[in-house]
Amino acid sequence: MTDGEGWPTSTDNPPVRRLSDWPAEPLRDLADEYGTPLYVQDLGRVKANASRLREAFPGADLSYAVKANATRAVLETLADRGVGAECAAAGEVKRALAAGFPARRVRYTAVNPPARDLDYVCGLEAADELVLTVGAADTLDRVAERGFDGRLCVRVNPGVGAGHHAKVSTGAEPKFGVPYDRAADVVDRAIDHGFEVVGLHAHAGSGISGDELSAHRELVRRMGTLAGEVRDVGLTFVAVGGGFGVPYRGDEPPLDLDAVATATREAYAAGWREGAGETADESDRAQLAIEPGRYFVADAGVLLTTVNTVKPTPDTTVVGVDAGMTTLLRPAMYEAYHELRSLEPGAPRRGRVTCDVSGPICETADVLARGRSLPDPGRGDLLAVGNAGAYGYEMAGNYNSRPRPAVVAVEHGEARLAARRETLAGLTRLEPKAEDS
Ligand SMILES: *Cc1c(COP(=O)(O)O)cnc(C)c1O
Repeated sequence: MTDGEGWPTSTDNPPVRRLSDWPAEPLRDLADEYGTPLYVQDLGRVKANASRLREAFPGADLSYAVKANATRAVLETLADRGVGAECAAAGEVKRALAAGFPARRVRYTAVNPPARDLDYVCGLEAADELVLTVGAADTLDRVAERGFDGRLCVRVNPGVGAGHHAKVSTGAEPKFGVPYDRAADVVDRAIDHGFEVVGLHAHAGSGISGDELSAHRELVRRMGTLAGEVRDVGLTFVAVGGGFGVPYRGDEPPLDLDAVATATREAYAAGWREGAGETADESDRAQLAIEPGRYFVADAGVLLTTVNTVKPTPDTTVVGVDAGMTTLLRPAMYEAYHELRSLEPGAPRRGRVTCDVSGPICETADVLARGRSLPDPGRGDLLAVGNAGAYGYEMAGNYNSRPRPAVVAVEHGEARLAARRETLAGLTRLEPKAEDS
């Protein structure tokens, strides 16, 4: 692949890239060259998604939730676009800094942070440049003990949740953030500790759709009210999370980003006036911040997988592929739906068969898709799994001693390896050898 032929360009920027929009031949070439299972991430599409977010939210602070896809290729691409990094762990902070995010644009949002994470982040040379977000009064003390005296943000539990599955709805889950009614006290306590409190933060969950805009609006309004109430603190930002949904089903409409942006802006301004009082000076209102993860990367990635086994059964045809729940966990964990497509040249002319597509892991949950109509599959066929760019490679694991897949980054038709395929030998690299013990 030496030219850009067949790849959608980033100058046309539709609200979604469907699995059917990906060109089959270059994907087949990549599977031939790098083997399967293989994640393919189009950095051009990541940039296009960043541009759409930027245009829909002018004036807002835009960060990327690193946990959606922390491969260096993606992080460098977004650091280069001037986006900030929202990090959930010390390892993400390390990766974000290494990929070129300036420390001033890095936020570390510690959820029940392990001591080792706090030691690392508080001990960084650039610790006083990044923003540390705490979700419990307890964490304030732990951070102070480590001599941190940099910028601080308080994570609030807004009491409203949203999301495509109960497992990703965080807004009302007590694990996340300081209870709304106690947030102002925690802000005061942080100031007593001598911290510079620069922000408030909340995240409702993942997968906000047009239908769930009311929950999002309510969260933003509450955060605006709180920000208005504590405006004397001199906050510089109010982060209202990510969670912008992408259409996983081929017939699902894309999120209306402009509608989300308008609702967000209006709810924030209305909430702030409520908290600050009608006579308050609007120029005291802190900047709105958003931090999507999925929206940047989901439709920029596909997973390529090869059919190993085709087995007719009385109920269905079981299509065994070389990618399973250790490659893409979302179907097993969230019952998530991902589009599937045969990349075989003759596929459109084949009859269709109803299939269950399952992986090579010894678990009943290891099924990528059930009851799907596919062009009559044969051994060796190449399939593509859509919307695999977010929470795909990132959640891959080694269960069943399965090596993790490779990742290829493409841009303008040029492909390069972004993560090597793990080897069988690599699986035991952490175990002391017999002679060491
Ligand atoms: C996961 C997460 C996000 C991003 O969620 P998406 O659904 O990927 O947009 C943003 N903020 C926080 C705090 C998160 O934990």
